[in-house]
Amino acid sequence: MAASKVLSGARVVLPTGIVPEGRVAVTGTRIAERADEGAETVDVTGHWLVPGFVDLHNHGGGGASFAGTAEEALTVVRAHRLHGTTTVVASTVTDDLDVLARQAGLLAELAEQGDIAGIHFEGPFISPCRKGAHSESLLRDPDPAQVRKLIEAARGRAKMVTLATELPGGVDSVRLLAEHGVIAAIGHTDATYEQTVAAIDAGATVATHLFNAMPQLGHRAPGPVAALLEDERVTVELINDGTHLHPASLQLAFHHAGAGRVAFITDAMDAAGSGDGRYLLGPLEVEVTEGVARLVEGGSIAGSTLTLDRAFRRAVTLDGLPVEDVVAALSVNPAKLLGVYDRVGSLEPGKDADLVLLDEEFGLKGVMRRGEWVVDPQLG
Ligand SMILES: [Zn+2]
Repeated sequence: MAASKVLSGARVVLPTGIVPEGRVAVTGTRIAERADEGAETVDVTGHWLVPGFVDLHNHGGGGASFAGTAEEALTVVRAHRLHGTTTVVASTVTDDLDVLARQAGLLAELAEQGDIAGIHFEGPFISPCRKGAHSESLLRDPDPAQVRKLIEAARGRAKMVTLATELPGGVDSVRLLAEHGVIAAIGHTDATYEQTVAAIDAGATVATHLFNAMPQLGHRAPGPVAALLEDERVTVELINDGTHLHPASLQLAFHHAGAGRVAFITDAMDAAGSGDGRYLLGPLEVEVTEGVARLVEGGSIAGSTLTLDRAFRRAVTLDGLPVEDVVAALSVNPAKLLGVYDRVGSLEPGKDADLVLLDEEFGLKGVMRRGEWVVDPQLG
């Protein structure tokens, strides 16, 4: 059982605004209304306290991926916790359906234990024209019967499926997902504007890494980007690593969708929190050079090596976004989307004591998950 603590003196970012010299009381695993008598006081003056980050889209890190054994999956979870991600959805990449179903069973167990927040299937129901780092030979049209089999294999732990909704069976699959409470995410798609609108009307609510792996905005063909940005029902994922998006594209999306409809994701692969070298993304070989991951064959960008602490820092210091908006994009919005905002996503009493301590330059100083320091700031 974690001891009671009071973190005192930091700028605390709450959904209602920033408290300049705030206090956060932690009792056991939860945030408390007030401190227990005799609670240890930790002086965090000069720091920022923000909620733990929630990553909707993450394939790997720490040299391991969610496509391997349970132990490897836990390596990924731990690697990202060291960077402030206290809630993570495990993303798979395109593979044989039987392989994915087996992997779903393994990941469902980790979700039942509370190690991950659920499963995101990225592929195989995506467009060969926009395959990115997915194996073309394993791609298939989104047949609702097969989509159903996959989410059943996840035993209620499937949170999201990315699909190219313009393919035959696409819109029916969106309906099926929506009926089962699984997020239908539009991505790796070659859809037109009109086809994207139809998919949103059928129940799709997320744009998988907006701008990446989809047609770009055209003067007479606005494509999926315009449809996804303009619709109030859609949350757009953005990979803010400086490689996947030009800073101006990020600004455009952020300002058009508004801070309430953006989720910063990592789309991380094995090299996140690890280093340059040769890795695998599903069945494909990837070379990571200076933090940029590319397929050995063809050179497509193959996921990122981003961690969410870096995404936070970039968003505030380089993109100039308000801290509250960045907290919304990293914690509040993804937690709401996943249906776990009653437990995580903000620093409110009763919620899990998942929090990140940042210094004045927004460098990561401490990470607490469920009342225990994962990264101890060593402040006494
Ligand atoms: Zn991905």
